[in-house]
Amino acid sequence: MSLPYDKQVAVVTGGSSGIGLATVRLLLEQGGSVAFCARGESRLNDVAAVLARDFGASRILWKAFSVLEPEAVNAFAAEVEARFGKVDLLVNNAGQGRVSTFANTSDDDWRAEYELKLFSQIRPIRAFQPMLVASKGAIVAVNSLLAYQPEKHMVCTASARAGVQNLLKSLSIELAPAVRVNSVLLGLIGSGQWTRRFAERPDQSVSREEWYANLARDKGIPLGRLGDAAEAAAAIAFLGSRAASYITGAQLDVSGGLSRHI
Ligand code: NDP
Repeated sequence: MSLPYDKQVAVVTGGSSGIGLATVRLLLEQGGSVAFCARGESRLNDVAAVLARDFGASRILWKAFSVLEPEAVNAFAAEVEARFGKVDLLVNNAGQGRVSTFANTSDDDWRAEYELKLFSQIRPIRAFQPMLVASKGAIVAVNSLLAYQPEKHMVCTASARAGVQNLLKSLSIELAPAVRVNSVLLGLIGSGQWTRRFAERPDQSVSREEWYANLARDKGIPLGRLGDAAEAAAAIAFLGSRAASYITGAQLDVSGGLSRHI
């Protein structure tokens, strides 16, 4: 039986770590080809070497650049087209959250956060749009539950993420019927961001398991634990697949029940 994911060509931004890397892997496991990027070249090369060994070099393409550099994004789109001839799925995942309160967020911080959150969507979408239209493809944006459910120490990132959801809704209308546009709203996923925060924990004697368990309890996550990158990737791959062919302008909550809105 042919899978709904068969032979898809996908682009994943921020594919060298965490949720992006888990998504790259899953899409390769499902039989597709994947182009991915990140800023750090050496981690990207290490990841690519493992993926080439596991799935074959002909099915992957990678490049080190920031999604905030328009020329680099456009050059990557041209390279992907030359190599694979099409793009069926764009996963806009690159980025990170900013921990700050209103009191300690400067104007420059606000500008940087808005630039990262909005332009990490806008630039790749603009660059890959012609190929996505041609293939009647899909865009999946990786966003946070904070867009709907802000927290006080995430004031800047939550506000920017709400703007991203609004942008995506507009795009789901403007790009229809050719391209579907959806997002995942993540709660706490135990990947890069939380690994970094774990490394900076005040009490270094606390184990990772204990720290994550305390975090899940303190946050009141109904499923009682952080999610893992593969669980986020599964939702991303679903929204990007033909199994989700009648879904656009939607968001899928991947938060272990942390969402309090209905
Ligand atoms: P990781 O830090 O593990 O991975 C982030 C990836 O994005 C890396 O490959 C990183 O590589 C890349 N990246 C970051 N900035 C850029 C950039 N400007 N251009 C290109 N690549 C970039 O993070 P996660 O997997 O935890 O997070 C993935 C996404 O999910 C992020 O957008 C994050 O904000 C979002 N998210 C995560 C949550 C969580 O709990 N983990 C919760 C809510 C949202 P490099 O640094 O080398 O560029």
